[in-house]
Amino acid sequence: MTDQARLDRRTERERLARKEAESLLEIKSRELYEVNQALAEKEANTRSILEAISDGILTYTPDGIIQTSNRAARELFQTEGESLEGCSISKLFPDAGFIGVSVEPHTNITQVVTGRRSDTDSFPCEVKLSSMALGGVWVPIITVRDITQQKLAQEQIRRLAYYDSLSGLPNRTLFQDRSVMAMNSASRHQELAALMFLDLDRFKRINDTLGHGTGDLLLRQISERLKSIVRCYDSVAAVDNEEYGPVLARLGGDEFTLLFQRIRNSNDVARKGQRILEGLRRPIVIKGRQMVITASIGIALFPEDGEDFEMLLRNADTAMYQAKKTGRDQAMFYSTSMNKEALRVLGLEQDLHQALAQGEFEVHYQPKISIKTRRLVGAEALIRWRHPQRGLISPGEFLPVAEDTGQIGPISDWVLIQVCQQIRQWLDKGLKPVQISVNISNQQFNSGRLLDTVRQVLAETGLESRYLELELTESIVMENAQQAVETLNQFREIGISLSIDDFGTGYSSMSYLKRLSVDKLKIDRSFIRDIASGSEEEAIIRAIIALAQSLRLRVIAEGVETEEQMRHLQQEGCDEVQGFLFSPAIEGDAFESLLK
Ligand code: C2E
Ligand code: CA
Ligand code: CA
Repeated sequence: MTDQARLDRRTERERLARKEAESLLEIKSRELYEVNQALAEKEANTRSILEAISDGILTYTPDGIIQTSNRAARELFQTEGESLEGCSISKLFPDAGFIGVSVEPHTNITQVVTGRRSDTDSFPCEVKLSSMALGGVWVPIITVRDITQQKLAQEQIRRLAYYDSLSGLPNRTLFQDRSVMAMNSASRHQELAALMFLDLDRFKRINDTLGHGTGDLLLRQISERLKSIVRCYDSVAAVDNEEYGPVLARLGGDEFTLLFQRIRNSNDVARKGQRILEGLRRPIVIKGRQMVITASIGIALFPEDGEDFEMLLRNADTAMYQAKKTGRDQAMFYSTSMNKEALRVLGLEQDLHQALAQGEFEVHYQPKISIKTRRLVGAEALIRWRHPQRGLISPGEFLPVAEDTGQIGPISDWVLIQVCQQIRQWLDKGLKPVQISVNISNQQFNSGRLLDTVRQVLAETGLESRYLELELTESIVMENAQQAVETLNQFREIGISLSIDDFGTGYSSMSYLKRLSVDKLKIDRSFIRDIASGSEEEAIIRAIIALAQSLRLRVIAEGVETEEQMRHLQQEGCDEVQGFLFSPAIEGDAFESLLK
């Protein structure tokens, strides 16, 4: 074989091999193409299935960036056109902390959360977060469904079940639920609650003469009015949260019920009842016709008048009948003693409004005596109310009422001014006045303007601060512990003496007392009353005096009525006394004679 022939053969072999390789390659690439085609088709299929699913589907990377979304998801979040891919998933579900972080294998969480479309637009949705294994890693996948309609339907059902359709007010079922909750909470915290049963007076007659249509209109208007009266209470108690707000319900017909929580006492409720009656009495115009509607109210208190809802409601109902029977247009308590008390307090409260303006208050002075010298060293100013019909009323009776109605502030300020003017007069007459102490109420102390008031009164009367002493009860000081230290310091700076009243009844700690700038402790009357030798009271008094001495404070005992008590106090080292043994509180003129 020639060389040429050998070469040709090789070339031919190579050509064949190449051709074979080429056709093999062609087959392979065709196969590959077909596989790709198939894959693309499959993906397109998957994609259209994904797109066709009515629930929103989203997947995201471990750092919370959306990777896949379907049409339903885009529609839900209204980003049609724009893509969700690349956005942060947690932006869509701001209150769902479990979304947007990497998932555990086999995660499966379903929750109702808020879906967020924009800053102002969100919707309730049910979200299911699961994880699927993809190429060895667990990828989070979210299914999301808008449940706005479902919620609306639920709300609708709730409205039908719990609200009265005529007035839109809670119905008996909801009222009972809320009452039971309130009673449980009141028992736990040892608080009072009150249930009012309100029935319109002579409604049946209106209904019969004017027709049911007008009757319904009237009931709607009355409901609105009651709602607005009750809402006023809400704003009064604005510090309280919704949970403790009043509940107003319509039981049916012309019967309404009200629930009040966290009430302080029966007077509190009597006053609320009074306001409701007053509010209802304002004329109502229906179809151009003016009417005056009144109601009768029965009140039952929890827990005194009933320990369960049924009993409370029944007793409030009974009280309401009593209110109707005895004249209508009034509120009555279930228990008769409450009625008497409420009437008395309501009377006092009404008169108290004018008392200040009509000059019915007086200041009396009770002398303070030095134990060592038995001489007059000071006096406590005590307010008296000279009622035009009832005569002299003690502060123990009217001050709590004034406190409830917020009148204690102006009244206490008046005493302060009165005392300073009195001392000024004594000075002007050339007398040598003693230091006079004035009682400070809780509200005055908390008002934040006591210091200013005192400064102003002193300036106006041109009085030196050493003539004035303020008595603060131990409880006032303890309740406002942090603020008290600061406020007392400020009084000290302007030279006002301070004494802690009713000492021993609160829980002042030694370390706290040390930080307070006070001058004097006044031992509470209850300890003096039972001071007999060897008694517990004697031991307490001894301890208080020792405490005062270690803090360099003076000690005064109040309510000293006998020489026996006086002797004990002298033995223990008490500095001053005050009490009937020497003198009760006397009028300004009488005290002036003592000064002379
Ligand atoms: P308080 O500050 O503890 O005043 C002492 C009370 O004990 C006075 O009653 C006084 O008359 C009475 N008392 C004095 N000596 C004796 C005694 O030997 N035996 C007995 N059994 N009682 C005695 P009052 O005047 O009825 O005052 C009652 C409370 O009213 C006072 O208690 C004080 O907390 C408050 N108060 C009186 N006047 C004012 C005032 O102008 N402003 C303020 N915010 N509260 C006042
Ligand atoms: Ca006092
Ligand atoms: Ca006292």
